[in-house]
Amino acid sequence: MRLSESKIKTKKRIEIEEESKGLAYLLRANFIEKLTSGVYNYLPFGLRVIRKIEKIVREEMERIGGQEILMAALHPKSLWEQTNRWEAFDALFKVQSRYGQWYGLGPTHEEVVTPLAKNFIFSYRDLPLYLYQIQTKFRDEPRPKGGLMRTKEFLMKDLYSFHTDEKDLDWYYEKVKKAYLKVYKRCGLKPIITEASGGTFSKFSHEFQVLTEKGEDTIFLCANCGFSRNKEIMEGKKCPVCGKKIESYSAAEVGNIFKLKDKYSRSLDLKYIDQNGEEKYVLMGCYGIGISRLLSVISEVLSDSKGLVFPEEIAPYHYIILPLYTGRRDTDKKITKFSEEIYQLLKDHQKEVVFDDRKNVSIGEKFNDVDLMGIFYRLVISEKTLSKKRIEVKKRNSPNLKYLSKNELINLKK
Ligand code: ATP
Ligand code: MG
Repeated sequence: MRLSESKIKTKKRIEIEEESKGLAYLLRANFIEKLTSGVYNYLPFGLRVIRKIEKIVREEMERIGGQEILMAALHPKSLWEQTNRWEAFDALFKVQSRYGQWYGLGPTHEEVVTPLAKNFIFSYRDLPLYLYQIQTKFRDEPRPKGGLMRTKEFLMKDLYSFHTDEKDLDWYYEKVKKAYLKVYKRCGLKPIITEASGGTFSKFSHEFQVLTEKGEDTIFLCANCGFSRNKEIMEGKKCPVCGKKIESYSAAEVGNIFKLKDKYSRSLDLKYIDQNGEEKYVLMGCYGIGISRLLSVISEVLSDSKGLVFPEEIAPYHYIILPLYTGRRDTDKKITKFSEEIYQLLKDHQKEVVFDDRKNVSIGEKFNDVDLMGIFYRLVISEKTLSKKRIEVKKRNSPNLKYLSKNELINLKK
């Protein structure tokens, strides 16, 4: 990609800079654009990162048997009435058709996935079943804030599992926990698994909480044994596991997993015939990851005073080529030629590369943009590197410079 063709320019300082650096960087780098309070557009660089996070999520979901589907966002009122959530789910967006019918805009999909599963689940032989989707969710949040942290329209991965018995549900629940940790690790995060209210159907659910001042949650964490619980249900000051002192921290919830058991299979009548020919309710689990909130959290946690510092797997691009001109025509021609060669070479090797070939932008601004946008490797081509037929290589997260030949560049290891 040639930056000269992109036309989407980065911004200088913006108002909210002090409030949240992660959000300021996302806005300045034009990864996202605010449409209205709690509603955002994704622009090319931001969308690339979102797609990469989604790819990681998909890979880890497939690894634990998840089958991807895409459910409707427009839900008939009747389904939400059956679960008593048409009135009880405060944040449900309700829309009326001009022909009179009411619909809910999906904030979560138990009401849709449970009837859907009825098409496939009849006997114990049809279980377990794991279905997931990555989809736009709608919630009429009272206080949208923090950029993508809490929005009225957001991207979520939701997985639903269906089981014959609690043992199988428990086993899969633990499997999902491990898969989630892999997802976050690949995104450069190390969340704390926190016990939280499980609602009426289970003692606890588990949240994946990333420590950050910009998070809306307060969690309690025991430095001694690692026990953690969400503030909502944490009264005592001592760790209930080891008795040591417990401290509170601000954190952002990037995922939440629940054992729904038979809550929705009862209200939506999802049964199966067991080995003895008896009819039983299917047990369910649900597992969410806030994809767009993740982008916000990653930007907050993985950034420095200059901009975003993303791990290679989710960086918007892996390489950016910066020609450093001298003002001398002959030399500059050679610099352009060599830069074009490197650009072509990287493309030929299926590398994700940006060529900063913009003419009216100063070299200082170009350097700033590389740091702001979190591109993983900066490649500088200058008179000095040219004379040795080398490329100056710098990783976004390291101050060290390396001078590599074309061949070494292509075979660069992490
Ligand atoms: P919260 O407690 O933060 O409101 P939640 O517990 O209601 O979230 P879940 O229903 O568990 O959210 O949804 C799964 C994930 O989706 C959450 O862990 C979070 O990362 C993300 N998420 C939930 N609500 C929003 C929102 N309004 N904007 C962006 N992401 C959200
Ligand atoms: Mg939650």
